[in-house]
Amino acid sequence: MIYDLYTTISIYMFVNFICTLVLGITWYKTKGKYEGIFFVLVDFVFQSIGLTLASLQSSVSPIISVVLANTLMYVGSIFLLFGVAKFVNVKLKKYPFVIISILFVTLYSVFTLYMPNTNIRLIIFTFMIIPIFLYVIAVVLFKADVNHRKFSFHVVIAHLLFAINHGFRAFTGINNMKSMAYEQIHQQESALIITSLLLMVYLTFAVIQMIDMKLLFELDESVEYTKSLLSKSQYLAYTDGLTEIPNRRKVEEALDNEIDIYKKFGRVFSVLMIDIDDFKRFNDLYGHDYGDYILMEVAKYLRQDLRTQDVIGRWGGEEFFVVLPDTNLVNAKAVGEKLIKKISSANFDHNDVNEKVTISIGCSDVKASDTKNTIIKNSDVALYNAKENGKNRMEFI
Ligand code: GH3
Ligand code: MG
Ligand code: MG
Repeated sequence: MIYDLYTTISIYMFVNFICTLVLGITWYKTKGKYEGIFFVLVDFVFQSIGLTLASLQSSVSPIISVVLANTLMYVGSIFLLFGVAKFVNVKLKKYPFVIISILFVTLYSVFTLYMPNTNIRLIIFTFMIIPIFLYVIAVVLFKADVNHRKFSFHVVIAHLLFAINHGFRAFTGINNMKSMAYEQIHQQESALIITSLLLMVYLTFAVIQMIDMKLLFELDESVEYTKSLLSKSQYLAYTDGLTEIPNRRKVEEALDNEIDIYKKFGRVFSVLMIDIDDFKRFNDLYGHDYGDYILMEVAKYLRQDLRTQDVIGRWGGEEFFVVLPDTNLVNAKAVGEKLIKKISSANFDHNDVNEKVTISIGCSDVKASDTKNTIIKNSDVALYNAKENGKNRMEFI
């Protein structure tokens, strides 16, 4: 197949403009979100303009079609390097690149205007642009963090291929010009332009993929963060701040749930209303801190002696409420007695104060006519009776 060099260049330019447009839209959509994409876009714009100017070789002066065109392409690659570096959060010094850009313009001007020489220009371009490509690779591989390295994988591969393509172009270009016929040179050039075209498309894909992967990663992170916030706020909404056991809202939900199960499946349950005896005395004698300590310790002891399916919560000041699923009155009695014994035999030793604590319990099992309110009321009345009958004991309704 014979390639026509000018058709190839036109197709290359067209594809280049399309890639620039696609990247421009991507930049616009993610505007302000990620640093660096604008610089990458600048590179694409510079490549497109540079290529257009180069194609006008026969009708405009060499200052524009050679010096300016190649400078735009070279400086564009530097913009791409800075864009990728910014995207992967790596800071680069500007001035070395300003200096090499000036050097590039100077050398290109000399070998275009004063000592025109295509071969030397090709060598200059190749030897100055390959380090820029390798720098992009080095920034991603050695300076970026592991996540950005993953996002930029295709950008690295694209630059590796760019470096190889340019090296190959310089190598064949110099050799061929000595030995090949004009037609053959054009064939070689066309093939290389097609390779460049494919690489341009690949680079566009690589940049868009780099952005998409970061977006997806951040989306995952924000979903995780929202989940953790949700579970934290749920924990706070259902937990008592002092004792770190469930609060009244949670216990009432458990109670609603047990009543539902009882009504649907007939599974019985019992409840215990627990109150610390003479608690006010501890506050009055030793201060609020000691009172708080007793509340935390009692909550801990009570929780230790219950099954995992039992729900205990802080009902109010020094009162606790326990829901015992699948438990009749006889079994609830055994549980209550165990708790009373456990608390009365424990030592509440804190800041040189060592006191004994007792609890009273009002117990009630669910009956056919019960609602949430009646069962709470029954346990409360039973607790009142336990207090009346001497405390450190349990009564039933
Ligand atoms: P009874 O044996 O009849 O239950 O007497 P009591 O002293 O335990 O009961 P009373 O209702 O007279 O006192 C309860 C006290 O609990 C009053 C209140 O100041 C105290 N209290 C309520 N919440 C807290 C708390 O979070 N920390 C502390 N330290 N005290 C609290
Ligand atoms: Mg009390
Ligand atoms: Mg009380």
